[in-house]
Amino acid sequence: MDQVVLRGVTKRFATKTLGDIVAVDNFTFSVREGECFSFLGPSGCGKSTTLRMIAGFEDLSEGEIELCGRPVSVKSKNLYVPPEERGLGMVFQAFAVWPHMNVFENVAFPLRIQKMNRADVNRKVADALAHTSLTGLENSYPSDLSGGQQQRIALARAIVTRPKVMLLDEPLSNLDPKLRESMRFEIKELQRTFNFTIIFVTHDQSEAMAISDRMMVCDMGRIMQIDTPENLYNKP
Ligand code: ADP
Ligand code: ADP
Repeated sequence: MDQVVLRGVTKRFATKTLGDIVAVDNFTFSVREGECFSFLGPSGCGKSTTLRMIAGFEDLSEGEIELCGRPVSVKSKNLYVPPEERGLGMVFQAFAVWPHMNVFENVAFPLRIQKMNRADVNRKVADALAHTSLTGLENSYPSDLSGGQQQRIALARAIVTRPKVMLLDEPLSNLDPKLRESMRFEIKELQRTFNFTIIFVTHDQSEAMAISDRMMVCDMGRIMQIDTPENLYNKP
């Protein structure tokens, strides 16, 4: 089944200096259940804007988005479901972790918003921490931990609600090359365990090739190609 569907999604921004710019031009694609699908392209090609529209942080200029069979943004019907009701897990480069909360509080936060009872919160946080190798660090603050551990807190917070779809926006770009590679394996391992559908945004071609089942290559707000890494790079 297709879990993320975009049909004719366009985003225009009005700017003072350049007038109206088309950041995302008529995007149509589907991401299947359990698939790791990446957006690859240079800075400014519309990757983050697309992800932010899927997440619900950004309005559409045209088109429609469906998540797990449910319309969440349909411009023509003025239909809009807010981010917290879309059932997504997210890890963004910025806003990775909250510095004033310890590891437990960071990971528990999405459950607290749902007003889940304490016993269930404790159980689910313990489970998320176990899956991200953070057990024992509950009371540590992010600033005392390494970059990789901080990104694992963000991952634990994203998986704690067991979302079907994960949005990852350059989640590894603040890490050094060696750590990036091991975190990539950890993300794939989490995906195998929980059968998440992942949308992974990156400007790094080798990273996209290593992690994706299929990739969408964009340039200047347009979709250039959508295919498997093998087909994109091995064909003559
Ligand atoms: P990417 O994530 O691929 O780097 P973005 O989605 O951030 O690209 O940006 C796509 C285009 O939209 C860029 O030209 C960018 O300058 C423009 N853009 C993004 N957000 C805004 C905004 N809030 N106002 C005006 N232009 C924007
Ligand atoms: P970037 O330029 O790196 O894409 P932005 O400054 O555009 O980052 O912000 C990312 C978006 O994430 C913000 O618009 C904000 O609405 C949203 N956001 C706010 N709080 C959180 C959070 N706790 N976790 C994830 N995203 C958040």
